[in-house]
Amino acid sequence: MTRIFNDPADFADEALAGFCDAHSDLVRQVEGGAVRRNRPATPKVAVITGGGSGHYPAFAGIIGPGFADGAVVGNIFTSPSTQQAYSVAKAANSGAGVVFTYGNYAGDVLNFGMASERLNAEGIRAENVLVTDDIASAPLAEIEKRRGIAGDFVVFKVMGAAAEAGLDLDSVVRLGRKANDSTRTIGTAFSGCTFPGADTPLFSLPEGHMGLGLGIHGEPGLFDTELPTAVELGRELVRRVLEEAPAGASGRAAVILNGLGSTKNEELFVLWRTVAPLLREAGYTLVMPEVGELVTSLDMAGVSLTVTWLDDELEEYWTAPALTPAYRRGSVGLDVATADTAVDDAVAEAAADYSSTEESRAYAGRCLAALEETASLLRDSETKLGEMDAIAGDGDHGRGMVRGSSAALEAAAAAYSAGAGAGSVLIAGGDAWAGKAGGTSGVLWGAGLRAFGERLGDAEIPTSADLAEAVRAFAERITGLGKADIGDKTMVDSLLPFTSSFSEGVASGSSVEEAWASAAAASTEAAAATADLRPLKGRARPLAERSVGTPDPGATSLAMVFTAVGPHFTAVPAPAAATH
Ligand code: ADP
Ligand code: MG
Repeated sequence: MTRIFNDPADFADEALAGFCDAHSDLVRQVEGGAVRRNRPATPKVAVITGGGSGHYPAFAGIIGPGFADGAVVGNIFTSPSTQQAYSVAKAANSGAGVVFTYGNYAGDVLNFGMASERLNAEGIRAENVLVTDDIASAPLAEIEKRRGIAGDFVVFKVMGAAAEAGLDLDSVVRLGRKANDSTRTIGTAFSGCTFPGADTPLFSLPEGHMGLGLGIHGEPGLFDTELPTAVELGRELVRRVLEEAPAGASGRAAVILNGLGSTKNEELFVLWRTVAPLLREAGYTLVMPEVGELVTSLDMAGVSLTVTWLDDELEEYWTAPALTPAYRRGSVGLDVATADTAVDDAVAEAAADYSSTEESRAYAGRCLAALEETASLLRDSETKLGEMDAIAGDGDHGRGMVRGSSAALEAAAAAYSAGAGAGSVLIAGGDAWAGKAGGTSGVLWGAGLRAFGERLGDAEIPTSADLAEAVRAFAERITGLGKADIGDKTMVDSLLPFTSSFSEGVASGSSVEEAWASAAAASTEAAAATADLRPLKGRARPLAERSVGTPDPGATSLAMVFTAVGPHFTAVPAPAAATH
């Protein structure tokens, strides 16, 4: 339960502002997150962590000498946007390149990946290191599909120390990947977490039970079992982690016993009393173990055990000193170069200057009405979509769609007032959607809308064939970025039936209204049919079985929106009255 908040929607932003004030000796707030207070006197690789809020001290709590250079801070459990990642990277870059490092979640992969493309195009080298330590989230053979949980901490620490020691970008990336390859975590949940403003937790367990295989976004555990004693629990966690000891692993290990937000330190120590001797009996020397809260999940009760098998170089960087708000090790001097705030201004967007025809501006009015309809529909459906997403995902789909569509409407309305044509109105809307929604669906919707707008342009009123092309551009952008196929249980399952039905309808000579209406019906039916599927992409994948019986939230919201906006896009505006 969260008791201290104002407007729940502002919780993450307000927490970040308070954090940056409280730790102003070490960090400063920038657009999209926070960076070190002082820029390094000599160029060094910038190690930038990130992800959603709700995991403190991950990720902003570990900014400082010897650790991260910056953190991109999204809304609660929601990926930050591409623009946020780009902006923090610009502020943290000191000339030796940047590396984004984060847990393996689709939204983060998309947004950090797109920010990297943008940085590379500008000549700032940007790389990505994904953390995939969660044993429970996929079999070893599919390790690249695993989520990142508390193992984040070790991987980030190794990279931060390596960058501080002056290693170049390729070496920092190599070490980060090596640390990840040598790291395994298994966790267990005792109770779910509750979003600020919500009355009930995202999940609950039967009394006296625990969910083994927790996620850090309020996902329930993968296997429900009876709550064991501390000794039995310690044995189970150690057994599961050591099962995956890499062949030829050294006898030295970094170990983290992590609390998820509301498990007391005393409880962790009771568990440690079993875990540590078992690891020593297995032949390991425990190097600088950590017992405490390092990667949390709001107020979730739970615990996870992380082991990183060390070699000489991993051990050197794991044990190197660090000075950050939430984590201090050894002694480090603060870098005394002064903060250079000019970089913040460099990322401010230039004001747009539109050139459009009167016809296109009239059609832009239709597009704006479609966005208005979308935003209001999604506001009314927020709870329902959130509940669908909570079954196997993280419960934020409703909130993300509301944030995205409201921001899109605001930006599109501003562009419309500034004289933008239809294409530019939708592009402005798409960029704002991607910027504000967070999450996987947000970046895909934003990018799709942008592609739709690019295809419409600012000159003509679209014919039905143009509209079919624009819908196709929307779909191609989404499948190109998200790489989901039909049957993966994502929004693509209701999008592609729409696209093909609409194109066929238009090609076979139906009226544009009819073609849209039957495409919308096909999409609605396909969305409902996703109930039978198991998700193969996105955050719901690890809990695939649980999702059977519930339609995919992203497929559902897409069908709803396409159904609602049809009348706006298909009605061709009356030609503007001739003026004399
Ligand atoms: P997140 O999964 O980051 O929390 P949301 O909850 O807003 O984001 O959206 C979840 C929806 O995103 C899923 O229901 C699914 O339809 C869609 N989705 C997830 N991954 C992909 C992907 N790779 N391609 C297309 N859609 C996806
Ligand atoms: Mg979600």
